[in-house]
Amino acid sequence: MIRDRETLNLLLDNIARFVRERLIPNEEVVAETDEIPDDVVRDMKALGLFGLTVPEEYGGLQLTMEEEVLAMLELGRASPAFRSLIGTTVGIGSQGILFDGTEAQKRKYLPRMAAGELIASFALTEPGSGSDAASLRTTARRDGDHYVVNGTKRFITNAPQAGLFTLMARTDPAEKGAGGISAFIVEAGTPGISFGKRDKKMGQKGAHTCDVIFEDCRVPAENLIGGVEGRGFKTAMKVLDKGRIHIASICVAVAERMLDEALRYAMDRKQFGQPIAEFQLVQAMLADSKAEIYAARCMVLDAARRRDDGLPVSTEASCAKMFASEMCGRVADRAVQIFGGAGYMSEYGIERFYRDVRLFRIYEGTTQIQQIVIARNLLREARG
Ligand SMILES: Cc1cc2nc3c(=O)[nH]c(=O)nc-3n(C[C@H](O)[C@H](O)[C@H](O)COP(=O)(O)OP(=O)(O)OC[C@H]3O[C@@H](n4cnc5c(N)ncnc54)[C@H](O)[C@@H]3O)c2cc1C
Repeated sequence: MIRDRETLNLLLDNIARFVRERLIPNEEVVAETDEIPDDVVRDMKALGLFGLTVPEEYGGLQLTMEEEVLAMLELGRASPAFRSLIGTTVGIGSQGILFDGTEAQKRKYLPRMAAGELIASFALTEPGSGSDAASLRTTARRDGDHYVVNGTKRFITNAPQAGLFTLMARTDPAEKGAGGISAFIVEAGTPGISFGKRDKKMGQKGAHTCDVIFEDCRVPAENLIGGVEGRGFKTAMKVLDKGRIHIASICVAVAERMLDEALRYAMDRKQFGQPIAEFQLVQAMLADSKAEIYAARCMVLDAARRRDDGLPVSTEASCAKMFASEMCGRVADRAVQIFGGAGYMSEYGIERFYRDVRLFRIYEGTTQIQQIVIARNLLREARG
């Protein structure tokens, strides 16, 4: 749903200019140093990027899902690491509070998130539970007006920078499945939290993950999201449904960028006396990429509009995330192929994207988990 086309166009133009003038020129620096320069982060805050999804009453821009997708289709044209820095605050780190938090929780945390003062992370995965998230073992035991948290969370995006975590932990040890899980807001400075070493990753340099370890960490009971135990898994799944549409839009944007680069290169590079873009076998790679990107773009926008209309989107979000992330992998592979030997050399930049986009098929639910969600929903509907 687009609320005000003129205001939205202004925002999209600003993001597109920011990507062109500030992010793309800094891509190599980020890849080499594994850090996003401070002045770029400052400009991201000034542009309001951390507050895209936070309601206006808490200081954000309150974008609808369709508007958020359109913003990500612009922002995602730069290296995915830039998006990753705002991604958890705009998405999985903040949305649990927004969907299910109490009014006091929203007032306390959302305005600082929207301003970019507080980076939010989402802490679900553990060493022993990834795809099978409902089997998580981190515990939160009630003790007076606190919960005592013990456990380890793994691969947590932005954990080294985070000011707070949306944490999923088991409050009911007798209930081994989803029903025993609750969601908490945990401030990063709380005693009893420590961090593992920064993970060395295949790609997305500049975006950081690490373990987050909780040892007798006392979290105020008022930080239980929504004030009700046992609802944390449902909160996490709602957050991930939305997050999957967001990630799918990033996949489309990066794929569009890679296709642009491959097309430019193919028109410039000559072999056998003519630009390689004139060869039909190269054209096939360009055409297949364009068609698949278009299909993914349509899916993402449709899923976003359905969500804005209040319709259930579990199936559509999984379809969009699965198709867009797999499509993005295929486009990356073709782009490297079109660049030939240069595609394998880091100075041309395309191999960096090839590595960066591999992640999209793994996190926020692997492709196999999306298949399971889609099939489960189909069967449930068919059985009535
Ligand atoms: C860079 C990065 C950032 C991340 N950021 C976060 C974050 O911010 N917060 C967070 O909570 N988590 C985060 N994660 C974790 C991520 O969501 C998980 O890695 C992902 O969900 C997969 O879990 P796993 O790694 O344990 O793999 P596993 O669950 O062990 O899966 C291994 C393989 O088995 C397959 N598989 C598993 N179960 C089935 C099944 N039932 N049927 C068929 N195949 C199956 C999977 O598809 C996969 O191919 C991040 C991961 C990475 C790499």
